[in-house]
Amino acid sequence: MTEKKYGFTTAILHSDRQKPIEHGSLHKPIHTSVAFGYRDARELAAVFQGKQAGYRYGRQGNPTVSALEDKITKMEDGYASICFATGMAAIGALAQGLLREGDHVVSSSFLFGNTNSLWQTVQGQGCAVSFVDATEVADVEAAITPATRIVFVETIANPRTQIADLKRIGALCRARGIVYVVDNTMTSPYLFQPKAVGASIVINALTKSIGGHGNALGGCLTDTGIFDWSRFPNIYDTYKRFPTVQWGVAQIRAKSLRDFGASLAPEAAHALAIGAETIALRLERECANALALAQMLQADPRVAAVHYPGLRSHPQHGIASELFRAYGSLFSFELKDGIDCFDYLNRLKLAIPSSNLGDTRTLVIPVAHTIFYEMGPERRAGMGIAESLIRVSVGIEDTSDLLEDFRQALDS
Ligand SMILES: *Cc1c(COP(=O)(O)O)cnc(C)c1O
Repeated sequence: MTEKKYGFTTAILHSDRQKPIEHGSLHKPIHTSVAFGYRDARELAAVFQGKQAGYRYGRQGNPTVSALEDKITKMEDGYASICFATGMAAIGALAQGLLREGDHVVSSSFLFGNTNSLWQTVQGQGCAVSFVDATEVADVEAAITPATRIVFVETIANPRTQIADLKRIGALCRARGIVYVVDNTMTSPYLFQPKAVGASIVINALTKSIGGHGNALGGCLTDTGIFDWSRFPNIYDTYKRFPTVQWGVAQIRAKSLRDFGASLAPEAAHALAIGAETIALRLERECANALALAQMLQADPRVAAVHYPGLRSHPQHGIASELFRAYGSLFSFELKDGIDCFDYLNRLKLAIPSSNLGDTRTLVIPVAHTIFYEMGPERRAGMGIAESLIRVSVGIEDTSDLLEDFRQALDS
């Protein structure tokens, strides 16, 4: 049976009911059971052998988590999704499930700090990683070798908001038969579906905009169904018993989720699923607030630079306008010399110094002194991170209150 294609929010709200749901419950219930029992032992064996759908053990799958996976698959217009305990676990699953010794990864150098650190670890484990300027497709192409298995980019890089040349990199990966992974956390599937530019795999840190309330950690990896896994040399024979389109998710679910065990808790899956219902409403407000704040700060002589894709001065404003529904809820800015960024942050009355993103509350952080501190000044400079850079994750507060807060902190 093919499901009717509903709009983005309708599809999320009515997703659980597309499958039988216990007692007509309107939310998929939280199933806390670790194990699942069968009356017929042959049925248990069939589930283990992948011949029948069903649950075996909570580390590998859980009904509440599956309901969330179905929702993310719909949001990304994908083929199948696997949830993890955190966004980092979903990214780590790429290395665990798809790479072998001697393989090569091409990654954008404009990256979430922990992803950067993860690729350093992978380098120490027998794979090579090349960091490139992903705003230039030529840089990506020049780095590709016969051993390249994955090209990894973020949509809008956190915190400097560089935007990868998403479409051209997609065409390049498709021509070369390379798995194209797009971390969609900063845009979320409401603003952008990476499948549209040929992504093979989409990563979402559910902790951020999808959960949206800073009350649960989670991550998700979605296979868009585009990649031809018969071209991928690292698939173990045991997963080739499934149709080709399933090879990637089958191997990642076993090798990454089952073997490393960073499974999403059902309680967290429930919290994230409730958050997901309002992502469109929240992002409309957050993106409008972010644009208003970025424009106000850019016009202020005490501000040295504002980085936001919604500003005409942003180098990839054109790409963002073409590909994204709006410009995102994150921007960063630098104060002029002589204004101490800590003093500025301490004068804010609403915005909270905190390291999360995509919360309903506006959060601010001095990047070089916190999340990018471990990197040291040289690598920060290479990534365009000024020592005074302040990152702002814009919430759903009333616009006038936010504008007033950021203005009064400059005035004092
Ligand atoms: C936060 C984030 C992650 C990691 O997500 P966690 O749930 O914190 O592990 C990955 N990528 C990007 C772009 C992020 O912002």
